[in-house]
Amino acid sequence: TVTTTETTEAEADTTTDGAAVEETAEAADAAEETADTEAAVSEALADGMLTAGTNAEFPPFEYVGDDGEADGFDIALIKAIGEKLGVDVQVDNMEFASLVSSIGNKIDVAIAGMTITDERKEAVDFSEPYYEAVQYVLLPEGSEIATAEDLKNKTIGCQLGTTGMFLAEDIEGATAQTYNRAVDAVNDLVNGRVDAVIIDKNPAEVFNTKFEGKVKIIDGADFGFEAEEYALSLIHISE
Ligand code: GLN
Repeated sequence: TVTTTETTEAEADTTTDGAAVEETAEAADAAEETADTEAAVSEALADGMLTAGTNAEFPPFEYVGDDGEADGFDIALIKAIGEKLGVDVQVDNMEFASLVSSIGNKIDVAIAGMTITDERKEAVDFSEPYYEAVQYVLLPEGSEIATAEDLKNKTIGCQLGTTGMFLAEDIEGATAQTYNRAVDAVNDLVNGRVDAVIIDKNPAEVFNTKFEGKVKIIDGADFGFEAEEYALSLIHISE
């Protein structure tokens, strides 16, 4: 609908304004892109099944429930989307670092508290964002780390392939120690093998509760970390 409106408006002043011609072309491109996306979506759903990849190590967005099945906010969200589309949803639990490359072959979409980044945009398309987050710093209870300066030259635990890892890698002199499961990074924090863990706000809060008395959390904004937006990632259509 939006595309149609734009086209009409642009056409209205084509006679006087050269820029409007460009606008019309842009609107046509956008319409084509929408059509391509729709075609890809219906192809992916032709079998009546939406296969969603996740990494169920990221509470409260996804975790393995008592019944051994993936559960959490993202799982509820993708099931609601499946219901709306009239297809069954199958959830594939895999390593976070494998999600992006699995889209379009093993899975139709990834839903995993995944932050929109320019790098990932080269490989996948993102939906509209559905949640705003920020990285948090998880520390041993008695730690004196409090500023960005204090993180320099430290050993920082993080989950492989996450934005937390990208931040840790950018800290001067720091060593990013990577784990497939965030909880293993937190265990190593408690055991004194890493000095800090960088992880998204909500999982940080869950781990802070789970390891109460042993750890503490600090909002990454205090370290200069910027807000992040979560979205579903889908097969890359546009140029
Ligand atoms: N939001 C982070 C990212 O996209 C972490 C996601 C996760 O570990 N599931 O990299």
